[in-house]
Amino acid sequence: MTGSFSLSAAENPTVAVMEAGYGASNLDVRYINCEVAPEKLAGAVSGAIAMGWLGFNCSLPHKEAILEYLDDLAPSARLIGAVNTVVIKDGRLIGENTDGKGFVEALKTIENPQGSRTVIFGAGGAARAIAIELALAGAQKITIVNRSPERGKKLAQHVDSQTEADCSFADWTAGYSIPEDSSLVVNATSLGFYPNHEQTLDVDFSSFTPGSIVADVVANPPKTRWLQAAETAGCVSLTGIGMLVNQARVNAQLWTGETLDAEVMHRALNKALGLA
Ligand code: NDP
Repeated sequence: MTGSFSLSAAENPTVAVMEAGYGASNLDVRYINCEVAPEKLAGAVSGAIAMGWLGFNCSLPHKEAILEYLDDLAPSARLIGAVNTVVIKDGRLIGENTDGKGFVEALKTIENPQGSRTVIFGAGGAARAIAIELALAGAQKITIVNRSPERGKKLAQHVDSQTEADCSFADWTAGYSIPEDSSLVVNATSLGFYPNHEQTLDVDFSSFTPGSIVADVVANPPKTRWLQAAETAGCVSLTGIGMLVNQARVNAQLWTGETLDAEVMHRALNKALGLA
C-alpha cells in the first residue's frame, strides 16, 4: 500500500495517476489519499509502518513536520529541507523530495539542464526544490525572482552556498524584463492556479527570448496565461503536468523499483483534471 497524507486530501489528483500507473504495470499495489490533521501525523506514520506500507507522500501541511519521524534523508531532501515522499524499508523511514526531480525529468524530455541559465519566479517549496535539483543537474546560473525579497534572498544564498551553481536574487520590479541570455524561465509561484487562472506574472512578455524554454509548475489549467504568452513569443513551453507525472513515476520507482508508463499516467491525470 502507498498513499498521501495531507489536509485537505480530496482534491489531490495523484491518486488517479498512481492507480493508473500501477494497474498498467500489473503491480499489486494501491494508492489512497488520507486526510491527516497535524496532530495526527505521528499516528498516521505509525499506522503506515504497522500496516506494511511501502511509503507515502506528504503534502501540505506535513512537508517539514515529517522530518522528526524520519531515520534518514536523501541528499537533495536534506538540501531542500522538506520531504514530499517517504520510503519505508525494513521499518526505517527515508525522506526524499521528488518535486524538483519530477520537474527535471520533465525538462529532460526537451533539453538537458546542464549548463543552463535559468530564471525562477518564486521562493516557496516548489521553487526551492526546482532550484536545488537544477543546480544538482548542472545548471550554470540561477536567478531567483520573488515578491518577498527576504524569502528570495534566503533561497538564492542557500543554493549559491550549497551547490556548484552561481545563484543570485533579483528584485521583482514592475514589468520585470527577463535577461536575454536566459535559456530556461520557470514560474514556480502559485500565480495562474485554478480558480485564479486569469492571474499571471508581472513580466514584460516581449523580453522572452524566442527558442528558450518557459515552464510552469501550475498543472491546472495546463496551458496557463504565462505559457500562452511564452508560446506567442516563440518559446518552447513545459506545463506543470509533466512535473506532476514524472514526480509520481519517481515516487513509484522509489517504492516498488518499477518504472511506470508515463503515457498511461498522463492520460489519467488529464481525465482527473477534466481535460480528456
Ligand atoms: P508556497 O506557498 O510555498 O510558495 C508560493 C510562491 O508563490 C511564493 O514564492 C509566493 O511569493 C508566490 N506568490 C504567491 N502569490 C503571489 C502573487 N500574487 N504574486 C507574486 N508571487 C506570489 O507554494 P508552493 O511552492 O508549494 O507551490 C507553488 C505552486 O506550485 C502551486 O501552484 C502548486 O500547486 C505548484 N506545484 C506543482 C507541482 C507539480 O507537480 N506540478 C508540485 C508542487 C507544487 P511570496 O514568497 O512573496 O509569498
